[in-house]
Amino acid sequence: MRDLAAELAQRRAGDRYRSRRVLEGPQAPRQTVDGRSLLAFCSNDYLGLAAHPRLVAALKRGAERYGVGAGAAHLVNGHSRAHHALEEELAAFTGRERALLFSTGYMANLGVAQALLGRGDHLLQDRLNHASLIDAAAVCGARLRRYRHGDDQDLARCLAALEGDGREILVSTDGVFSMDGDLAPLPALAERAAAARAWLMVDDAHALGVLGATGAGTLEHLGLDARRVPVLMGTLGKALGTAGAFVAGSEALIETLIQSARTYIYTTAMPAPVAEAAREALRVLVDEPERRARLHAHVHRFRSGAAQLGLALMPSQTPIQPVLVGDAGRAVDLSRRLLQAGFLVPAIRPPTVPEGGARLRVTLSAAHDEDEVDRLLEALGGLHP
Ligand code: PMP
Repeated sequence: MRDLAAELAQRRAGDRYRSRRVLEGPQAPRQTVDGRSLLAFCSNDYLGLAAHPRLVAALKRGAERYGVGAGAAHLVNGHSRAHHALEEELAAFTGRERALLFSTGYMANLGVAQALLGRGDHLLQDRLNHASLIDAAAVCGARLRRYRHGDDQDLARCLAALEGDGREILVSTDGVFSMDGDLAPLPALAERAAAARAWLMVDDAHALGVLGATGAGTLEHLGLDARRVPVLMGTLGKALGTAGAFVAGSEALIETLIQSARTYIYTTAMPAPVAEAAREALRVLVDEPERRARLHAHVHRFRSGAAQLGLALMPSQTPIQPVLVGDAGRAVDLSRRLLQAGFLVPAIRPPTVPEGGARLRVTLSAAHDEDEVDRLLEALGGLHP
């Protein structure tokens, strides 16, 4: 047996210890933690929907109609009218034939790879993809290759090396990269994938609700036709303020997932009231476009303020605005000092980001007000990160 206590002590000494904070109230910029009021810049609740009264009311109505637990997997007896309607609405929202709910984005990513690929097939991924996409390689047994971040030419080289191999190829990429906030070059990736007859999958967790005229995500933002990206994954726990995820695509793709994605088949469906709240979130997207406008105004405000302060920003036009620090110890120290000053801004270190790429990961939300963005800038300016 491993000496777990000793391993944990070592981890703590090496400054690699992960810990949680207990929140006493809803997800919001203002948090009370250990009796202290803090201003949080670390949530993925980009539109401030997680505690929106309309979502709360929809969840309550859902619970009254459906109860709480789904009671079974979708294919057994857990697929309610609420789930079914949400799937239809997500398909329409993303311009796809069909959509399929998964209980989490992590499971959706594992499920797609496992349903489409087998041993000996190929999974090509951007080097900075989210951990759940990378982990999918282990689940499906395909050979994993990682191409250089955002580099369609490197992808083309990887694809050329597989020419004539005759096996299935899945290329997967984040739409918006979760630690950098930049966008994948989807038109170029789509071209490369189509030329090699490979699947292209986009994980749009951080763009859904945020990018595009209607909030439909990276493809809408880039003006890319849905047919050029056969597999779209979106999550409901970020800008849509709820929980769970979906895959959208062709009728045949979705039926294939239902038949063979183990993370779909062998798990309990998300609670129906959550599906009702997610349906309400889609309606709020339409009714309150000012939330998206406000969010992008915050992004602009933060970037121009940070540029004036000489902070090392990354090329991101999204609510994910990392401030590059470099050294991991220094990033942790800065995050601690921000906490002392009343700001929650996490330090992100290797291995989550490349060696020498430690950063403060600032995320902005429509729930912030301008004054709060300015106060963060003031605090950052005082620390000279
Ligand atoms: N993909 C990306 C890019 C993510 O950032 C996340 C969550 N952080 C996931 C997938 C996983 O989604 P979920 O939290 O619903 O499991």
